[in-house]
Amino acid sequence: MATIPHLIHAERIVSGVRTCNVYNPSTGEVIHTLGLADRATVQQAIDSARLAFPAWRNTPPAKRAQVMYRFKQLLEQNEARIAQLISEEHGKTLEDAAGELKRGIENVEYACSAPEILKGEYSRNVGPRIDAWSDFQPLGVVAGITPFNFPAMVPLWMYPLAIVCGNCFILKPSERDPSSTLLIAQLLLDAGLPKGVLNVVHGDKEAVDALIEAPEVKALSFVGSTPIAEYIYSEATKRGKRVQALGGAKNHAVLMPDADLDNAVSALMGAAFGSAGERCMAISVAVCVGDQVADALVSKLVPQINALKIGAGTNSGLDMGPLITGAHLDKVTGYIEDGVQAGAQLVVDGRGLKVAGNEGGYFFGGCLFDRVTPDMRIYKEEIFGPVLCVVRVSSLEEAMQLINEHEYGNGTCIFTRDGESARLFCDEIEVGMVGVNVPLPVPVAYHSFGGWKRSLFGDLHAYGPDGVRFYTRRKAITQRWPQRASLEAAQFAFPSNS
Ligand code: NAD
Repeated sequence: MATIPHLIHAERIVSGVRTCNVYNPSTGEVIHTLGLADRATVQQAIDSARLAFPAWRNTPPAKRAQVMYRFKQLLEQNEARIAQLISEEHGKTLEDAAGELKRGIENVEYACSAPEILKGEYSRNVGPRIDAWSDFQPLGVVAGITPFNFPAMVPLWMYPLAIVCGNCFILKPSERDPSSTLLIAQLLLDAGLPKGVLNVVHGDKEAVDALIEAPEVKALSFVGSTPIAEYIYSEATKRGKRVQALGGAKNHAVLMPDADLDNAVSALMGAAFGSAGERCMAISVAVCVGDQVADALVSKLVPQINALKIGAGTNSGLDMGPLITGAHLDKVTGYIEDGVQAGAQLVVDGRGLKVAGNEGGYFFGGCLFDRVTPDMRIYKEEIFGPVLCVVRVSSLEEAMQLINEHEYGNGTCIFTRDGESARLFCDEIEVGMVGVNVPLPVPVAYHSFGGWKRSLFGDLHAYGPDGVRFYTRRKAITQRWPQRASLEAAQFAFPSNS
């Protein structure tokens, strides 16, 4: 069985005494081994990036962008191959895998506009014969640590933009599904990226700690669970690094009595059960305003959840694949038991699902809980599985209070035909990404992505304009060319225009 290599200084390197297995979650079989980088291997990547930085920061942004144009073409040409790798190691369906890649490519397209986004700001004559401008300069060596659930898209949120901004990047992908991430990084090298500008090291806590502690690493982007996000944010900011650490979520959809219920049900099915609920923007709570809405919603959802087509993601025509690991399957099962014990009504039970021909896979059917209350663990915690909880409230205000009091604030949405309710919701809800009749309001690449509260630690959101700010530091330059042969007297008062 082949060991998946690191990619350091454009070379494939197998190193690390410790290894872990990479599974196909549809079969439960080990398909690869992965060397986990030790500190020396991480340092090799850092040294490579540091070496590449001086030339790369001085490469014209238009040339950097040209590499991204070629990268985009290669990604499109390799879509089927990448989707296959994602599906084999993550388990999501091929269509879903292709979808995440397409959203990732949008970030590459945004990065292609480097000459435009790095233009800076210029003011002529801020004083007598004085001009001033703000330059956006790269930080140096920066790093990204990414989760298993979007092995293509989330890394593409980070390094195309960091790199066109003139930085050199070290990526530490999830150890659970690294193959598509590695192939995509190789395609960027094939597109003409100089050696060392992008390095990939596989690993776990040891590699992450090495990146946190290395003084050469100036900034860290992280996407993953909240405890790790908080750990990385506090440890890295303590060392003076810039950090954006995106964490977990519990996303609510509010259903108003005037909502187009049939369309809302279709939207909820995709948003709750797509990718087996393993999305940070998945809807996991449906907040129904009024018992009538709740009763109607539950009766429409039940047959659709029971009809979900579940199997190996690499087979066509399916709605969802397996969960990522056996341990995660046990965890989700534990939440179902917990919900039942706490008194929630389990209307559809997805436990114990076996898929013929794939008996070793980590499959879990769609689950629906009704009459969930805010004190229950299934409401408070992120389950990260195909489990939808229905909470009943009596007004929009009550729904909003519930959402605002939740510790997470990643995404939310409202289904309504009433503009006044929608406007109030958008204005007052304490969540970073809001949809109106849109269940997964993942911002397009030219806006930025990020949650509020314990869904994001840091000041700047991911990609888009915030991403540019994150991966650059501003330098303000004030320049004066005095007239020849004119001697000006020293001024001791603070210079001003008055
Ligand atoms: P995770 O936190 O377990 O792992 C994320 C990354 O952190 C991986 O690269 C992993 O190797 C590393 N890591 C794990 N344990 C570590 C430790 N103790 N010290 C240092 N690094 C460590 O997350 P996951 O299970 O891969 O992904 C699922 C989670 O990610 C969910 O909570 C989901 O909501 C979240 N997520 C959030 C967003 C967002 O944009 N907010 C997007 C995708 C996923």
